[in-house]
Amino acid sequence: MPIERSTNLKSRYDQVISRLTNAGLRRTKFRHNLFALLLDREPYALSFEEIRTHPITQRPDTVTVYRNIEALTRAGLLDCVTDGKGRPRYQLRETDGPTLTIACRDCNATLVRSSPMIPELESVARELGYSGLSSRWEITGYCEDCAEKRCS
Ligand SMILES: [Zn+2]
Repeated sequence: MPIERSTNLKSRYDQVISRLTNAGLRRTKFRHNLFALLLDREPYALSFEEIRTHPITQRPDTVTVYRNIEALTRAGLLDCVTDGKGRPRYQLRETDGPTLTIACRDCNATLVRSSPMIPELESVARELGYSGLSSRWEITGYCEDCAEKRCS
């Protein structure tokens, strides 16, 4: 891993731990491992099963995973997005405000991005007199791997 990326990961890891503390949540071994896993798998969001069965999370029981995901999502540390099949996936929350979800229709790899174009698009509604805007943008397609498999 290039040094720049690893330094960036370290500082983001520290940031999420301090957000955890600020939210009044305990620093547990599972939460540390979960954050490390989510950072490692970025930009992809992970399903409940992928989190539960990954070796780094040390195969916690289903209730532990469920309760932690729920608490961390409620505290705004995780984002829940749905993949192409409507199943929830989780990733660290990076930004406040609207995001764009991009999902693969074959393998359901899902990532979330903020985009400067979203506020611009919301301005269309604002100009029409709408307030309290909230928007969900989703794009589906085939990820690079799946597109390659479809061609071969
Ligand atoms: Zn795919």
